[in-house]
Amino acid sequence: MSTCIVLHFPDDVLEKYAMGSLSNLDCGPLEEHLPLCEDCRTRLMKVEEYILVVRAALTELEIHSNARIGAQSVFAL
Ligand SMILES: [Zn+2]
Repeated sequence: MSTCIVLHFPDDVLEKYAMGSLSNLDCGPLEEHLPLCEDCRTRLMKVEEYILVVRAALTELEIHSNARIGAQSVFAL
């Protein structure tokens, strides 16, 4: 029977870390854990990828809504 208990970091912690909104206090244990744990590294990579996709989508949305507002104000004239 294995007595090795590995404590992993949940996705929301990895998400905060990837977004840079994790406090330095919480970053310490995670940064110690990451080099040792391939599972959390892989999940962190996926979270980072997801954040990039969401940011790109939000930027695109912003461009589109700005364009719409621009067209509306031209209409108003
Ligand atoms: Zn882990």
